[in-house]
Amino acid sequence: MTPAEKPPISILLAAPRGFCAGVDRAIQIVEGALRKWGAPVYVRHEIVHNRHVVERLEALGAVFVEELDHCPADRPVIFSAHGVPKAVPAEAARREMIYVDATCPLVSKVHVEAERHAAAGREIVLIGHAGHPEVIGTMGQLSEGAIALIETVAEAEAFRPRDPAQLAFVTQTTLSVDDTAEIVGVLQRRFPLMTAPHKEDICYATTNRQDAVKALAEHAELVLVIGSPKSSNSVRLVEVAKRAGARDAQLVASAEDVDWRWFEGVRAVGVTAGASAPEDLVEALVAAIAARFDSRVEEVRVVQEDVTFKLPRVLAE
Ligand code: SF4
Repeated sequence: MTPAEKPPISILLAAPRGFCAGVDRAIQIVEGALRKWGAPVYVRHEIVHNRHVVERLEALGAVFVEELDHCPADRPVIFSAHGVPKAVPAEAARREMIYVDATCPLVSKVHVEAERHAAAGREIVLIGHAGHPEVIGTMGQLSEGAIALIETVAEAEAFRPRDPAQLAFVTQTTLSVDDTAEIVGVLQRRFPLMTAPHKEDICYATTNRQDAVKALAEHAELVLVIGSPKSSNSVRLVEVAKRAGARDAQLVASAEDVDWRWFEGVRAVGVTAGASAPEDLVEALVAAIAARFDSRVEEVRVVQEDVTFKLPRVLAE
């Protein structure tokens, strides 16, 4: 097809998009561990929820397992960015394993908050999604029953605390900002004395990516989000885009997943990526669109990010 025969389209690129500082750090930890100790290095759970990232690290010598029992005691093990229950590093120490914790510092902040509330005698509500590794990790910071999980507004309405004056809430870091505000609103109306986090638990990267997708969804009939169905923040971006006015929003692992029928009648397509999706997948998607359309790329930036996290001392040396 010559450029003249291709239908025109605007590609609106969300900014910020893709890798956050916690994901970047977790990947650097695996790469640094492989340099320091050689292959194989074991990683408990997918280091970040992205198949492309996991496959690249596997090719370098990382071995991904779901449980610590599957790691030999004489090889280093890394815990994923989502965080782990306290029992996991305790078991690694008991087996005298070398372990490096790649938990994002913003998830660790939530763990510390939960511990402080428990020490102050408060019952804790965690707003999050059951079964997500971050939720399992946060609930596993305290003994069973210390944290109650709330997933929906209906559950917030039905919740019965032990003592409404001794209640605090924390949240998963990758939730929908708007849905969470609704759940928190219900809890605060019912329990006005409930203690809130000093600083929002939903992380800067989740918030910024949702703001950016909202800004472009107003102008795009279709929004494509690159990410994995396991990635909470990526799935939220699809929901946020639809709610913000996009006619359609789709989650794709890469350009190969695109069904080009989605493009019928589309004059502007929004493109973004979840916090665990690498930029080369975005570039490949933009190139695939450009191969079929006479495209013009425009970046829709809502904020400039400059967050970085230090590596654990064992690897920074
Ligand atoms: S999405 Fe947020 S909490 Fe999760 S790794 Fe990235 S910065 Fe950390």
